[in-house]
Amino acid sequence: MHDILVVAREKALENGEGLGEQEVLAVLNAEDDHLTELLGIAHQTRIKHCGVDVSLEGIISLKTGGCPEDCHFCSQSGLFESPVRAVTLDIAELVEAAKQSEKMGASEFCIVAAVKGPTQKLLDQVAEAIVAITDEVDISISASLGILTRDQARQLREMGVSRYNHNLETARSFFTNVVTTHTWQERKDTLEHVRAEGMETCCGGIIGMGETLEQRAEFAVQLASVEPEEVPLNFLDPRPGTPFSDRPLVPQGEALRMVAAMRLAMPRTQLRFAGGTELALGDDGTEAGLLGGANAIIGGNYLTTFGRPMERDRDAVDQAMEAGAKPGMKPGMNIGITPVGQKRDSGNGALYDTLTAL
Ligand code: SF4
Repeated sequence: MHDILVVAREKALENGEGLGEQEVLAVLNAEDDHLTELLGIAHQTRIKHCGVDVSLEGIISLKTGGCPEDCHFCSQSGLFESPVRAVTLDIAELVEAAKQSEKMGASEFCIVAAVKGPTQKLLDQVAEAIVAITDEVDISISASLGILTRDQARQLREMGVSRYNHNLETARSFFTNVVTTHTWQERKDTLEHVRAEGMETCCGGIIGMGETLEQRAEFAVQLASVEPEEVPLNFLDPRPGTPFSDRPLVPQGEALRMVAAMRLAMPRTQLRFAGGTELALGDDGTEAGLLGGANAIIGGNYLTTFGRPMERDRDAVDQAMEAGAKPGMKPGMNIGITPVGQKRDSGNGALYDTLTAL
């Protein structure tokens, strides 16, 4: 049997240990003949160390667009010619969105703002929103508000935020090709503040921004070193008006190898398909990815782009859970909504259209 298959089986599957950088690189370079078996090992690793559940989750944006940072993939930057207008939601709309999420079975509600880091005014607004939401809805709150100081992390923990999302985005060695207005280290420091304050971390990034396979392996191992509870895995969706608008899509085979590599680098983490998955993987690839190590997806639409209809996500989840279920195991699902997008009359329901009409 091929070396990397033996190592992946012993280390990640049997012992629950993450692969090292060279081993991850070997996964990324695996020949086509070995891909199905690698995905199978990644899937078994997920089932053994995370269980059969697949989580389907939603996100809502408190402030969309107009961000002062220059992340070259992001249509929410106010520095590019991207067609995302700056909009904000009010508290009543957030509460309504949280209620809808709960109704659909979500256990977590994530509040996101497109900012470098929160001002005190934004933190006060988030605090008010959390009180209003938790008064009426039984749901745990996560947040994604950019770079934090230790004091800001403490404030969020005291407000009741249980999980904080902050991506490292890419390998440290590639970061300056993607962002020039803040550093990789500032992002890492934020994750340390979040961890030190006792909140869970959700930390991932984007594949396909021009990084090499070596840098993808570096990134997977750097992510593993943060020990995040959740890793959102995005594939670049080249947005018009951004500096990366002309980057090619990640080919399906490369994307599937990356899914397996992430699972084998982090056997116990929740690995969530996020933006661009439907582009890089396609329908059959999304299912293959859910059978190849991923165990969570963001349902419906993403923050600034249109993803897949929710029903198709649910079908993928159903199939993945069926494939992972064993006698005596009870599959569970965390379903949410993602009501922020760019156009009205989308066919996604009244709440979606109300929120996106701002
Ligand atoms: S990724 Fe975040 S920090 Fe960077 S431009 Fe987009 S919203 Fe701003």
